[in-house]
Amino acid sequence: MGLYPTLNKPATKPLAGIRMEVIMTEQLNPFKIAQQQLDEAAKLLGLDSGTHAMLREPIRELHISIPVRMDNGQVKVFKGFRVQYNDARGPCKGGIRFHPEETIDTVRALGAWMTWKTAVVDIPLGGGKGGIICNPKEMSAGELERLSRGYIRQVGRILGIDKDCPAPDVYTTPQIMAWMMDEFNWINTRFEPGMITGKPVAIGGSLGRNDATARGGIYTVREAAKLLGIDPSKTTYAIQGFGNAGQYAATLMKEVLGSSKLIAASDSRSGIYNENGIDPHQLVKFKLETGKVEGFPGSKTITNEELLELKVDILFPSALENVITAKNAGKIRAKISAELANGPTTPEADEILYKNGVFVIPDFLCNAGGVTVSYFEMVQNSYNHYWELDEVQKKLDAKMTKAFHDVYNMHKNRKVNMRVAAYLVAVQRVAEVMKLRGWV
Ligand code: GLU
Repeated sequence: MGLYPTLNKPATKPLAGIRMEVIMTEQLNPFKIAQQQLDEAAKLLGLDSGTHAMLREPIRELHISIPVRMDNGQVKVFKGFRVQYNDARGPCKGGIRFHPEETIDTVRALGAWMTWKTAVVDIPLGGGKGGIICNPKEMSAGELERLSRGYIRQVGRILGIDKDCPAPDVYTTPQIMAWMMDEFNWINTRFEPGMITGKPVAIGGSLGRNDATARGGIYTVREAAKLLGIDPSKTTYAIQGFGNAGQYAATLMKEVLGSSKLIAASDSRSGIYNENGIDPHQLVKFKLETGKVEGFPGSKTITNEELLELKVDILFPSALENVITAKNAGKIRAKISAELANGPTTPEADEILYKNGVFVIPDFLCNAGGVTVSYFEMVQNSYNHYWELDEVQKKLDAKMTKAFHDVYNMHKNRKVNMRVAAYLVAVQRVAEVMKLRGWV
């Protein structure tokens, strides 16, 4: 058995006396995966059963229905969630996703990962997540505003800078954060910008929040490259997922690491490849103008699967969950997989990557820059005093570098892969506080 207990189940029941091929299926439910990852850490840490049980489930969650009058005059009811996974170390913190395939189990998993994320970068917050089942690509700005305000009318009762503080995530934007803050402030009749982060700078957002997820991830890549003996200025890289984090990663690599070469990028439709290099700024412009990466001048069209299997120094999975699975993990040829997305790699794929020597910077470490600057935003909102950009970036660098080395040292000392090491660091910190508070 490898690092994780396998959750494989036969898809068909073998019948007595009949020779049947047992078809194995991989566990792809994100919450089951999050629990499986925690179980492994709990075993290695020797956690007592009460602490383990508390960390396996969210502390509380709210399921809501949001009526929205659509532009055609009809009312449509949207389902939404807010999961407060664990607030032992401080108020819950985590984004809100707008996605047609949102499920409560995905939100639970993301809430768990936020709990480990805030712990691994050691900011005084817990973990939570929210989601609405909707397709924002098919909604007008007016419909999105009414949906965002409706979400706060339902969930606002459990939010606040000292309770639970949301932020942007998949398909939610600074504008959506501004509407949500405004609705919350009307309801509570006071100005409380710190109840949500990732706001536009003009209304209490922090400088440096927009690119913080990507920038923080690149700081960890810089540290990993040093330890692995890779010259960061000579790296090639590929970006899977050209959304907020992916676009900033594309353009920031050069700024942070010196010269490096983007050779492939993809979005939900397809990918592009050019071995001679792609100008990341031109590609971002092209994507903004056309809504896709495909057709970028001088590039060849490839699939998302082909992109993941390219021979590159650094691969940035930057979209959604479960893109690197037992099926394709053996074909990954990157030296470093820097996970800007949440949950891109399954436990079985993790084992394969580890065996093959692919150095994974796990999601809740690699993409923790976003929540770290969100925390800086909350601090600035509380003081009503704002920092310069270089101060934000310096503080972010210090947090990410320290977190990376905490995890790397654990990886070396305990001889476990980087994801298990990140779990050991984070779970230990949350467990310690639960004990101090007398919960367990
Ligand atoms: N949604 C981002 C994440 O998954 C940011 C969360 C936050 O800033 O609270 O880390």
